Amino acid sequence: MVGDLSYRPYDDSYAFLVNQIVGQMLSNKVARIIFKRVEALCGGSVRPEAIDQLSDDQIRSTGLARSKVSFIRELTKAVNEKKIVFADLKGLDDTKVLHELTSIKGIGTWSAKMYLIFVLDRQDVLPYEDAAFLQGFGWAYNTNDYSRLSVENRCKRWRPYSSIAARYMYRALDLGLTKRSFGDAYLEGYEYLSRIRDYLQSVGVDCDRNTLLKEITLRKEGKVYGIKDHIRSMIYAMLSNQTKWYRIEPHLSEIDQLFYGYEPEKIKETNPDYFANKMFDMKCGNMSTKAQMRALKDNIQTFCRIENEFGSIDAFITSAPTISIVEKLSDGASSYKLKMLGEALVWEYLKRVGIDAVKPDTHLRRFLGAERMGIGVDCIATIGSVNEQVEIMTKETGMTKTEIDFLIWSFCADGYGAICTSAPHCSICPIKCWCRMS
Ligand code: SF4
Repeated sequence: MVGDLSYRPYDDSYAFLVNQIVGQMLSNKVARIIFKRVEALCGGSVRPEAIDQLSDDQIRSTGLARSKVSFIRELTKAVNEKKIVFADLKGLDDTKVLHELTSIKGIGTWSAKMYLIFVLDRQDVLPYEDAAFLQGFGWAYNTNDYSRLSVENRCKRWRPYSSIAARYMYRALDLGLTKRSFGDAYLEGYEYLSRIRDYLQSVGVDCDRNTLLKEITLRKEGKVYGIKDHIRSMIYAMLSNQTKWYRIEPHLSEIDQLFYGYEPEKIKETNPDYFANKMFDMKCGNMSTKAQMRALKDNIQTFCRIENEFGSIDAFITSAPTISIVEKLSDGASSYKLKMLGEALVWEYLKRVGIDAVKPDTHLRRFLGAERMGIGVDCIATIGSVNEQVEIMTKETGMTKTEIDFLIWSFCADGYGAICTSAPHCSICPIKCWCRMS
């Protein structure tokens, strides 16, 4: 099934170990991208002299966490000071090589075993610390038991060629044979989403009660959203601005009544300050509420104009990719611009009418930034980068964007998971082993 195996050991020990440091706790895909950036910064070849020429900030600009930069520095220092001499490692037995390599801060047993297998071509190394190997193991033995004992027991028969057998497992993985038995999500590193889900459930956030997900399902099932639905969703989006949603949520039926069930003409006839005052009475106002309420009339007129031009607002918002609809509704130069709704609030509004999208607000941009869980280079991910990353997650996990958005947002937001906040609670974070901050 896998075919004959042919391979050549790596001959650049230093670059290999830098690559291992980069790859720790990252999916293969992300690790590859970051290592290529490091390589480019080094002028195409990762050598100690090239790394020494770079500042920490330059190395971090590739997307590497501070801790990994310091590990690369430690390795480089050990090489420069000849605490580690790669040529000498060839003459040592496996245990001594492991000992030498793991004495360098940042090189753990996993990295050292990879070095034994892929650089020194040692024949009998069992890398049970490696997720990719375990995926192959689970596939080969049709098991979900990945405990060290179970792996060691089953793999006894591989001796004295455990490394060769492991290479077959990696090959099976590369050929895509193993996907079903272990799951793509784990390999791609998105298992953390299910950890987040478990955590949220454990603190009482009901992930299945996400109303936005219901809207997506309803739209998929053919629900048509009329102007009242659009006005309601736009107002809810406005209310979410700079305000913790858990403050708004208990008042939703009161709010629905206040806005006359979102009857356009009645809203237009009412003094906007009346709405604003009522919102403050309910303690649901924010610093923009007055201006938001004053913008309602114009926004309703824009909706009416869209209806005239496109037949319905639904027809308009599904007439182009969501990202360009967001641009049309939020860009000051656009004739469809909704007043008091920037890009993030337009995303929020569209989600509320069943469009599967992610709202790239502060929580998501921080969480998916380069210092935490993201693959970009900015500490606060750009709106485009959030969209790209969630798009990838959607493809890899089969989850909707709204679902992913809800999980990440709830994990970060005060009053919900409240873990990955502006001052993150990393010590109790259930996904810290995936995070660069840890
Ligand atoms: S809480 Fe800390 S460890 Fe967890 S995702 Fe946020 S920054 Fe990372």
